[in-house]
Amino acid sequence: MSKILIDEPEPRKEKVAIVGAGLVGCLAALSFARLGYKVTLYEYRDDPRNETTVDRNLRSINLAVSDRGIRALNAVDLEMSIRVLKNILPMRGRMIHDVDGHQTSMKYGLHNEAINSIDRAYLNIELLNELDRHKNIKVNYGLKLMKMDFSGKNGNPRIYFEKTKKVANTLEENAIRTFEYNFVIGADGAYSATRFQLQKFVRMDFSQEYMDCCYIELYIPPGASKKYKFQLHPNRLHIWPRNKFMLIALPNFDGSFTSTFFGPWDLTESLDTREKVIDFFQTNFKDAVDLIGLEQVVEAFLTHPKCSLVCTSCFPYNYKGKCIIVGDAAHSMVPFYGQGMNCGFEDVRVLVELVKKHEYELESAFNEYSVTRQQDLDAIITLARNNYTEMSHNVNTTRYAVRKKMDAA
Ligand code: FAD
Repeated sequence: MSKILIDEPEPRKEKVAIVGAGLVGCLAALSFARLGYKVTLYEYRDDPRNETTVDRNLRSINLAVSDRGIRALNAVDLEMSIRVLKNILPMRGRMIHDVDGHQTSMKYGLHNEAINSIDRAYLNIELLNELDRHKNIKVNYGLKLMKMDFSGKNGNPRIYFEKTKKVANTLEENAIRTFEYNFVIGADGAYSATRFQLQKFVRMDFSQEYMDCCYIELYIPPGASKKYKFQLHPNRLHIWPRNKFMLIALPNFDGSFTSTFFGPWDLTESLDTREKVIDFFQTNFKDAVDLIGLEQVVEAFLTHPKCSLVCTSCFPYNYKGKCIIVGDAAHSMVPFYGQGMNCGFEDVRVLVELVKKHEYELESAFNEYSVTRQQDLDAIITLARNNYTEMSHNVNTTRYAVRKKMDAA
């Protein structure tokens, strides 16, 4: 895409490298470009817009964008936020599916409050398109951060990248490239290499915990009717709660739903034959099987990746004014509160506010960020973990039966 240049603020002389062009890295790039910094983004994958085929069943994850995330997008640029979120679908409540196929709607609030469904890959591409509008943002694909130290001028970070094999086709394959920046923002996800490197220079507390929960993506196609493309209520987050395991489905703009099965590893791995999968799904999720298709359920269960869920937390998030980590790199949480990305977006908003407050004196801004942000992040990681019981179990209890009667009244 050719650059449709946006008016930039007074350029600053400092250069920032952002590691990871996922959702949070892209927002960080847009935000720091808006502050006047010269931004270079490094991403180890190829540009997703170059890919000709996308296997929806395997690659799609739907996210709920909440007010927290929207506020952060709006803070960068309202018009950009409107463009990026134009295809969100509001989910104004939950729809609980019981074993007999009865559905119960539970609104999130009295005033039409909603969380909003969007495809993660689509949102990422929309954000990458926004980067192309800025002349002071450059994106380098196919480069993987391998090492970082602070041996540059005035203790500046030096970062070392390996050209990833996928896009390498020259003799330089795997050659290490080194760059120096005034500061680095690590937005390279739950298994962050930036965080790992930072730990060599900072006395960082760090914890990582795998949940006994595995997830598998499934897909509910649009309905056959030309008039009404959704097979389920489009403005609900659908949940099939079965206590120790559950199925959920979030709507897509094209009438399909992205569905996810969550369950303990031993249960999920024990479903290793066609017969066992059919028996399990027909017993527990009969109405969902009718929507997904029996063969598709079997295929998904036996061939789609079985993914793990990891919680990480750390403190502090920065080294002086030279490096800071945001998003999943700093706090990866289980997805049951729908706040991982929203929280990562909020990290960027809070960080930018502090940079402005400290008049671009980065060490003070980064230090204050670490000290003030930790409590909020730890709280949301705990809330996310507790919400698994809420979604898979509590929604089946008496409290909800009473709510159901009140909603119906
Ligand atoms: P990532 O999305 O992981 O991006 C990191 C990027 O860094 C990637 O592009 C990666 O290729 C790149 N990278 C990694 N290592 C390197 C390296 N060494 N060098 C260069 N580049 C590198 N959140 C919500 O807010 N709402 C939801 O409803 C929600 N639902 C979810 C459902 C599921 C099933 C899951 C698994 C997560 C969900 N989340 C949700 C969480 C959300 O997906 C994450 O919080 C979000 O994607 C984190 O974004 P990020 O940019 O920090 O990290």
